Amino acid sequence: MNFGPEVAVVGGAGAFLAWAVRGKSASVLARSRWRGPRDRAAIALTFDDGPSEETPRLLEALARHGVPATFFQCGANVERLPAVAREVRAAGHEIGNHSHTHAMFCFQSAKFMETEIRRAQEAIGEHTGAVPAWFRAPFGVRWFGLEGAQRRNGVGGVMWTVIGYDWKAKAEEVAARVVPRVENGAILCLHDGRELRARPDIGVTVEAVQRLVPLLLDRGYTFETVSRLLCPTNSSNAF
Ligand SMILES: [Zn+2]
Repeated sequence: MNFGPEVAVVGGAGAFLAWAVRGKSASVLARSRWRGPRDRAAIALTFDDGPSEETPRLLEALARHGVPATFFQCGANVERLPAVAREVRAAGHEIGNHSHTHAMFCFQSAKFMETEIRRAQEAIGEHTGAVPAWFRAPFGVRWFGLEGAQRRNGVGGVMWTVIGYDWKAKAEEVAARVVPRVENGAILCLHDGRELRARPDIGVTVEAVQRLVPLLLDRGYTFETVSRLLCPTNSSNAF
């Protein structure tokens, strides 16, 4: 039997769908930004899955260097730790939406995704007063209908330029992976929580930030929130 062409076509379609769902630069299923402009030495540090009991450690590390970040919070974590969520905002960081329950959007309905985003938007608004402008899909997974679900919630999609694998790597590995990949406009993705887990160990993330931030400041990069990095009036270049 010859499976050649058919398998190649199915394999190609499968690979395309996998890229559309997970690819950081894919905008097939929902438009998402994955980097800022290349004409300025500005980058954005982002943290997903918080707030957690450990988030204040990270806030301290960021405060030491005076750099802002963007925290993509899960609504359920905000409801569990509203005071920590407020502390993030009070420290001057931006708050983004990372869904309510950190659900996997693969094979879910548009209604499901819309509700996940709306519940997080409401929890963040109620407890911090912030109205997130950006949504980062849990696991970076986009699905059919997400575009409308984002639009109806008034949020834009954001992926990342570099992801640190800080939930499974050692701090020095995270730094070694991230630093060489940083360029103008890079959006870095780390985690101040671990999905909805209570009291997660984010020691690797805190240590990685302590290594990364001074190094990148030394190289002349400035840190900006996602909204500032992606604001078109901050750049002379369309991108
Ligand atoms: Zn996440």
